[in-house]
Amino acid sequence: MIRKLRIASLVGVHILILAHIYLWGDEVIGSVDFQEFFHAFIKHGVINSGVIIVIIAFVTTLIFGRFFCGWACHFGAVQELAWWLLNKFGLKPITLNSSLVTILPLFILINFFILPNVFYYFQSPWEKIRIDLGMPEIWAFLPGFIIGSLTFLIDGFLIVYFLGRKGFCRFLCPWGSFLKLPNTLAFFKVRNIGGCIKCGNCTSNCPVGIDVSYEINNFDKVTNTNCTSCLDCIDGCPSNAIAYQWKNPIEEKFKLSYYVLNRDMYNLDTIKNKFKSIHKDDFITFLLILLLGFSIDGLYGMGHFLSFGIATITAIQIIKFYKKHIIISSIVLLVFMFHGLIKFSIWRGIENYEMNNYSSSIWHLERAIAIHPKPIGKFHVLLAQMYFDNNDFVNAEKHLLLAQKINPNHTSYKELFEKIKSKKNINEK
Ligand code: SF4
Ligand code: SF4
Repeated sequence: MIRKLRIASLVGVHILILAHIYLWGDEVIGSVDFQEFFHAFIKHGVINSGVIIVIIAFVTTLIFGRFFCGWACHFGAVQELAWWLLNKFGLKPITLNSSLVTILPLFILINFFILPNVFYYFQSPWEKIRIDLGMPEIWAFLPGFIIGSLTFLIDGFLIVYFLGRKGFCRFLCPWGSFLKLPNTLAFFKVRNIGGCIKCGNCTSNCPVGIDVSYEINNFDKVTNTNCTSCLDCIDGCPSNAIAYQWKNPIEEKFKLSYYVLNRDMYNLDTIKNKFKSIHKDDFITFLLILLLGFSIDGLYGMGHFLSFGIATITAIQIIKFYKKHIIISSIVLLVFMFHGLIKFSIWRGIENYEMNNYSSSIWHLERAIAIHPKPIGKFHVLLAQMYFDNNDFVNAEKHLLLAQKINPNHTSYKELFEKIKSKKNINEK
């Protein structure tokens, strides 16, 4: 019954979103993306629709736990659909347990969303708080069709196949990480009310892969901060041993042992073949994820979620199989390193260009365009500009012609062509 209600809620939320767009377009309420809290509020002091959603989610999590994730999040719903479909096709992914489910989303949250916006604030503090519910427009953070489809496929489906239940929510989602602290303090939790027969149903049913059975028998409640208050565990308990209950926060017990790595979990005979621990490789896996993630992040329009989704799946597979498939693992690593070199070349090229260090910028950008799989007009224009400033009109013209070939409709080349022509004329005279 609870599961049906939850499915109805997840479907209902999406119908409401579509109805809102149909009735009011995208003008009344703008983007409701969680990152608005960081990009709009922390950075610019703007309270928009996304900021209000985050505040509501934070406050309600303090009371009810992360029910927002379990009852309203579209991306959680996609992963549950993926799990259901995989099971329908007879595929039973193993759910991986690792400390990375805490470390990696927190790293993504701090590195990509908190630190850059806090630094920006300190460099140019906002003067007053503004309210603007309609901006940015509702689709502002949606990627294009190809990147959007890849993100949907990799972070919604493939990640569930490779990492298990709610692979994206557990291993990557920074918004889930943001809600972990209020979730720890939440008044309502799944609690042991007595009579558990240790059948393991609750653990098997948990869509986030929490060992509910272990936690309620050892801690008297579910303490895992990934709990989304979906209540599926209660729904499937044959002896009504657990309930979603309020407790006065002053009487609530908080012990460090509730939250630290616990190797005794997932040992019930009925569930242990559904989970696998990769804890022993956590450190090396984390380093490899960072290396792979940063080597592709931002390339070809890929956002953090897609690049780190690919990196996490790949890193875990490499750590798992490199002894058996050393050649394939090495080739995959080389592919990532190649893209890392492209990214490094672009980064250093643009950085040096902005610092007017043209010789270094030319060196990096020439390499970037030589190895980048797709011709990029913007880099040819930068190179043309720098060669022109260095009085190398032959190379300036060459790059400008290449830029024009890539993007013939652009009009910005005309001025530089004129400048090159007149300089050449002056030099010939
Ligand atoms: S512990 Fe229970 S309420 Fe929490 S996510 Fe798992 S099934 Fe849902
Ligand atoms: S489903 Fe109920 S009886 Fe079975 S392990 Fe969980 S709490 Fe105990």
